[in-house]
Amino acid sequence: MPETKPDPKADTKPDAKPNLWHGIPRDEIPWFPTIDAEACIGCQLCYLTCGRAVFEIEDAVAVAVDPMNCAVGCSTCGNICPTGAITFPPMDAVWRLERERQIFRTVKKEAARKHERADIAKARADAQAAIALVTTRARVEVAGEFGDKQFLVRLEELLGERPYDIVNLRLEVPTVKGARAKAPSYMTFEVTSETQEDVEPFLNDVRALVRDVSLVLVAVTGL
Ligand code: SF4
Ligand code: SF4
Repeated sequence: MPETKPDPKADTKPDAKPNLWHGIPRDEIPWFPTIDAEACIGCQLCYLTCGRAVFEIEDAVAVAVDPMNCAVGCSTCGNICPTGAITFPPMDAVWRLERERQIFRTVKKEAARKHERADIAKARADAQAAIALVTTRARVEVAGEFGDKQFLVRLEELLGERPYDIVNLRLEVPTVKGARAKAPSYMTFEVTSETQEDVEPFLNDVRALVRDVSLVLVAVTGL
């Protein structure tokens, strides 16, 4: 018996999801725009306004090319059409269907899922806002007479085993002789967190150290 090979052209994709409106097949719901071609002046307002791609403009007249893609209950295009060319079936049929098919249990479940998604989005936004408030890198500017105050040594002691580091350290000394003569100098450095933690506790210690050695804290800037 000859072997049956699979047809490569065969459509192996699963069926597309049915288009449901709260559990009711959309094509069973009598809600769609109808255009009076005689009344349409081809202004294209409906084409531009509808977010569901229901309309096309053909021969300068609006045509509902995908009427069942209209959002059930929406009548925006009908309300704004300058000539009243767009009409809809009466809502009674939709209300009757809502009752007959008892969509409210489905609606309740869908609403619960929507609340859940909103709560997750809010929690994510809150967490991102909290992270944005945390300073993980800051520039410190210190001025004064550094002389023999052991500032750098004490700064290193402050670091100890903590998850911070000091980078881009620069000391501007006017002249070597001036430094010896205890002329004021200017130091800048950046405090970083190796673990993306808030550097503020370490900055507080730096502030205390600067005060303790009688230097001037010019600025602390979050980066
Ligand atoms: S808004 Fe009204 S008049 Fe304008 S194109 Fe659409 S149907 Fe025609
Ligand atoms: S009623 Fe709303 S969704 Fe339906 S065709 Fe008009 S604008 Fe589009």
